[in-house]
Amino acid sequence: MMKPVIGITCRHLIDSGSDQYLLAAQYVQAIEREGGIAVILPAAGEFDRPLRSICDGLMLTGGGDLDPGLFSEEPHPKLGWVDPERDKFEISLIQRAKSEDLPVLGICRGMQMLNVALGGNMYQDLESQAPHALRHMQRRPPERVSHRVWVEEGTRLFHIIRRRRIWTNSLHHQAIKDPAPGFTVSARADDGVAEAIELPGDLFFLGVQWHPERLFRQSARLLFVEFLRNAREKAPAGQNMG
Ligand code: MN
Repeated sequence: MMKPVIGITCRHLIDSGSDQYLLAAQYVQAIEREGGIAVILPAAGEFDRPLRSICDGLMLTGGGDLDPGLFSEEPHPKLGWVDPERDKFEISLIQRAKSEDLPVLGICRGMQMLNVALGGNMYQDLESQAPHALRHMQRRPPERVSHRVWVEEGTRLFHIIRRRRIWTNSLHHQAIKDPAPGFTVSARADDGVAEAIELPGDLFFLGVQWHPERLFRQSARLLFVEFLRNAREKAPAGQNMG
C-alpha cells in the first residue's frame, strides 16, 4: 500500500536581510514515523489544481499570531508578529480540504486557523483578555507537559485518545474565544480554554492547541496514527482497494 502524502504548512521568515521558509523538523518526523510522507507547502501563490492531486491530508502547523482583521478586530497591544499572506494561504487550503473531503489536522496556530477559516474568533492575548486563564505559554522545554486537558466523551478526539484526562505542553498566548459554527470543542483546559476542536461527521477535521509532535506519549502518537489512517483511506491506492 502506498504511503499517504501529507501537505504541511510552514512559516515565512523575512528578517534582517534573510528570506526563508521554515518548519520545525518534528512535524515532518512525526508524519514519517507513523508511515506518511511529508510535503511542505510554502505560502506562495495559489494551486490551480485540486489539493488532492498534491496530498492525501493537510496538516497546519504552529507559528506566529493571527491577523485580527480575520475576525474583524483591531490589533490588541499584546498582539505579536502576524503574516497575513500565510493566513490567507492557509484559509484557502482549509476551504479546499473541506470541500475536497481531505483529512485535516491543525496544530496550535493550525487549530486557530481552522477556527478562523470557518468563522470563529480569538483572544489576541489570553493573559490580558482572560485574566483567570492558566499560564498557556509555558516556561519549560516544549517536550515537557505543563497543564491538564479534559477530553469530551463521545468526540472523535476521545475515540482516538480513549482517555478523559491528558497532560499536554502549552505554547500559545492566543486562544479560541468563540468556536466557528459547526465546530465542537472536544477538549478544554481547567480554566475552560478550548484545547481541541473538531467537526462532527465522517471527515477527520480536527485541531489541537498543544504540540503533539514534541511529545512522545501515547496520546500524542495516536493523533498522528489516526490522522494518517484517515489520509491513507483517501489516497488513490486505498480507493482502488475498495
Ligand atoms: Mn494550553
